[in-house]
Amino acid sequence: MRLKVCGMKYQDNIEQVAALQPDYLGFIFYEKSARNFDTESIPELPKSIKKTGVFVDADIDIVIKLVNKHNLQAVQLHGKESPEYCDDLKNRHAELVSASHNLEIIKVFSIKDEFDFSILKPYENTCNYFLFDTKGKHPGGNGYTFNWNVLNNYPSTKPFFLSGGLGLNEVEKINQFVNSKASKYCYALDVNSKFEIEPGLKDIEDLKTFKKNLSSILDNNKEIVMNYNVDEKGYYGEFGGAFIPEMLYPNVEELRQNYLKVMAEPEFKKEFDQLLKDYVGRPSPLYFAKRLSEKYNTKIYLKREDLNHTGAHKINNTIGQILMAKRLGKTRIIAETGAGQHGVATATVCALMGLECIVYMGEIDIARQAPNVARMKMLGATVVPALSGSRTLKDATNEAIRDWINNPVNTHYIIGSAIGPHPYPDMVTRFQAVISEEIKWQLKEQEGRKNPDYVVACIGGGSNAAGTYYHYLHEPDVGIIAVEAAGLGIDSGESAATSVLGKEGIIHGCKTLLMQTKDGQITEPYSISAGLDYPGVGPMHAHLSKTGRAEFMSITDSDAMEAGLELSKLEGIIPAIETSHALAIFGQREFKEDDVVVVSLSGRGDKDLENYIDYFKI
Ligand SMILES: *Cc1c(COP(=O)(O)O)cnc(C)c1O
Repeated sequence: MRLKVCGMKYQDNIEQVAALQPDYLGFIFYEKSARNFDTESIPELPKSIKKTGVFVDADIDIVIKLVNKHNLQAVQLHGKESPEYCDDLKNRHAELVSASHNLEIIKVFSIKDEFDFSILKPYENTCNYFLFDTKGKHPGGNGYTFNWNVLNNYPSTKPFFLSGGLGLNEVEKINQFVNSKASKYCYALDVNSKFEIEPGLKDIEDLKTFKKNLSSILDNNKEIVMNYNVDEKGYYGEFGGAFIPEMLYPNVEELRQNYLKVMAEPEFKKEFDQLLKDYVGRPSPLYFAKRLSEKYNTKIYLKREDLNHTGAHKINNTIGQILMAKRLGKTRIIAETGAGQHGVATATVCALMGLECIVYMGEIDIARQAPNVARMKMLGATVVPALSGSRTLKDATNEAIRDWINNPVNTHYIIGSAIGPHPYPDMVTRFQAVISEEIKWQLKEQEGRKNPDYVVACIGGGSNAAGTYYHYLHEPDVGIIAVEAAGLGIDSGESAATSVLGKEGIIHGCKTLLMQTKDGQITEPYSISAGLDYPGVGPMHAHLSKTGRAEFMSITDSDAMEAGLELSKLEGIIPAIETSHALAIFGQREFKEDDVVVVSLSGRGDKDLENYIDYFKI
């Protein structure tokens, strides 16, 4: 667990406390506080200590000024700052000087004997941590603890700071707390007034004793470090799992018990890598987009998944799954497809391996996506129309599930995105992880460093995004940007912006964020791009959204189309309309001149030409 010492004021004392190596040092910028930091500068501190500015309803301009002046790495908001305030602050990061671009936002809430946790919800995506303090006369520094049992009902997975009256007398109580469920997401202890000789002057000996007495807890950072990967039960935080009809259990269970074992076999890995190289054409280039970078005054790299065989990232996953199916002795492959992209990728690998392939597709989609239907047929697949319901993707999925239940022994179901019951989201993510694996060494070659400042990807179900983020999930210096389709606008009723409009629900076998009506009926999504037209997101992304690890943006049809045209004209690359959504963020959000931003160019635009032509009347 981390330690934060707050309310620092005096230069010598700051240096003495810093020598104890806390993780955070807090400086209060609030004139009414007895600990107000009004000194000109903070002495040089070890890099491992995060300088934290504490503010109470301060003007954002002033916050930014002070963050820049003192090079603060975190801000703690102790007043009535709204979610919009936090969001505004987050969105102004481009104004921050160098080291502080990943400014951590800690929002404080005061608790006494009870607390309405629903207040936290709108803050989930706008701040990095919560801090729970004791409700008292002053904003902080009141010197007594609140009833920590309240935290038994903590509904979030966002890590929090525990604050309020922590002192030497609380060591025993802290030990008990750490062993209780309520501390599951407790990330740091925040101490202040109980260690003071006078306001702002800390007692070094007492702090030393505190650190020593709690050393087993404070030295153990591992447990509380956020995990963005799936856990052993198949969950990403509260999302994921396997919600399946009993009749599917044997199939899913067989896969769950075998997928990691099979993927770890050297022979499997060798065959997978070989096919990615010789058949798919990997590694896909990491291309520095010079003209696009000039236009937006930042360094933009494109990860060229569009150059893969079949024109998108989807083939990485279908190659992996067909090899998995073969290892498990399956002879028949089924899949569902909406726009036909996943159907084509599946039919392709079935042809490659000589396996029977049945693709379920809504009757309406079959009519809309004739070229892809023709491709699948030419590749030897049987395309079966789904005639029920709205005759689109979700109905095709229902048909595929029905088929699997009826053919549990010889059939493998290839799911095309990072969705479905566990282990699918994790398995698909691991197959797509080759994307970020390559980015690491390619960026090292070109920029001299493995980590970009941002990775960006569009999200339908979230497979290209999961692959692009995978090796960066636990690298805090890499910002993650997820781009959803806003369709005709978030409030238009015609969109697919799940992170904004979605609520927890179950779709296709997993618990995730899902667009639904009040009584839980799935809302029909809309986007101009068929690949983003999905009412949910994969459980990994639901978790990334909820914890605030990823920044979610939504892009309208028209902004996406313009961005697609722009890339064509500036770089000679016609992107898939899905990908155009990811590219459109440059018109919406600022980056710094020396930021390195890697965008997953998930697919090429050949399939969308007619759409582009209609739209622009070319
Ligand atoms: C299918 C598709 C997507 C969306 O799927 P994800 O699983 O979210 O990656 C994005 N881009 C292209 C080109 C696609 O074909």
